[in-house]
Amino acid sequence: MSTLIEISKRKPREIPRVFDFQTSIETIRAHHWRVFSDAYSGCAFNCSYCLYKGPDDYGRHVKVSPGSAEADPSMGILDIGTTTDPYQPIEGTELRTRGILEAALAQRIPVFILTRGTMVTRDIDVLAELAKQGLVEVCFSVITLREDLARTLEHRAPAPADRLKAAEQVAAAEIPVSFHVAPVIPGLQSPTEMDRLGYELASLGSHVFNAVLGAQKGWWDTFYGVMEGAADAIDSIEAFRAAYPRELTFERDAAVNCGLADALSTLLPFRDGVTRGGATFVAENFPHLTTGPLENGIYRWKLPTVYDMARWVSAQTGPVDWDMFCAWYSGHTPGDRLTALVRGLWDQGELFVGTAVGPAAEPGTYSGGAEVGETARTTLVARRGARK
Ligand code: SF4
Repeated sequence: MSTLIEISKRKPREIPRVFDFQTSIETIRAHHWRVFSDAYSGCAFNCSYCLYKGPDDYGRHVKVSPGSAEADPSMGILDIGTTTDPYQPIEGTELRTRGILEAALAQRIPVFILTRGTMVTRDIDVLAELAKQGLVEVCFSVITLREDLARTLEHRAPAPADRLKAAEQVAAAEIPVSFHVAPVIPGLQSPTEMDRLGYELASLGSHVFNAVLGAQKGWWDTFYGVMEGAADAIDSIEAFRAAYPRELTFERDAAVNCGLADALSTLLPFRDGVTRGGATFVAENFPHLTTGPLENGIYRWKLPTVYDMARWVSAQTGPVDWDMFCAWYSGHTPGDRLTALVRGLWDQGELFVGTAVGPAAEPGTYSGGAEVGETARTTLVARRGARK
């Protein structure tokens, strides 16, 4: 009797807490997944840079998520692992992630799994069935190949080498594999290390997503202390300090990213390694650095981010009004709540802040302009200036 059937007998086929896509300005900016279903709240891996931890000890309060909404296949792709790791230790006994996968298989719902865990190999049987129908991608999160840096920053997550071994096993079962390198931290690793990281990941996965560190108020002081404490181990604490001053202005729920100029010395060797290894490099913060073909210019597991929107607007021959924009945007099937949020940002002139797109002469219209990276840099400088 297969493991799949044995486990199915014990666990109901339910998908816990299916959410509509996240609708904060920050998630629209860079990490705009579709719908997500996370089996747990809190995360025992307790990474220092985790976007979801606040001042509380996120790693010590892991709970099974409440609720058990059945998934509606029309909601589209399920993103698993957005706010908590689906393969942290509790999954060994609770099997909630496995339950989501079984439900997705039964209902033919596509799933995108993001994990730093190695327990994913336990579910290769279900994943392989999903893969046969083109319904799954397993994305491993690896920010460094160095054990010492991983121990410093990702306290209880499996070692990078173990994650790569797990990725190898998943790929060997013909399950699509990609990697998410987030956060990319300027100064943490040398150009040679970044090149090697890119090359190693590209040898196992088809895409290597990456996003530079998004500093958030709740944990910024503690994280900064961790980086300062590891100054001897990291490549250049000066480069880190230049990219991210300790004193930053945090606006609303937004994370503060560094500017392109501060990120390039880390991103470019990384991109070289990825492209030499034969994978596509997907730069979430600086999309013009992205290489290789994506589906319609947008990676299929995600909704258009602000940067995707800006790229589309820039590609038009003249200024774009809301109706033109919405005709394109609605083709990606965003929900009503999300469309309303985007419309509000459009009307307030805030949607394209940090991109190359700006207001055109006619009120309510936008058009492309300067280089994206330069604009992003200007935005950070403006924020730094605002606190003085
Ligand atoms: S594995 Fe992901 S969710 Fe868990 S602590 Fe690390 S960054 Fe946060």
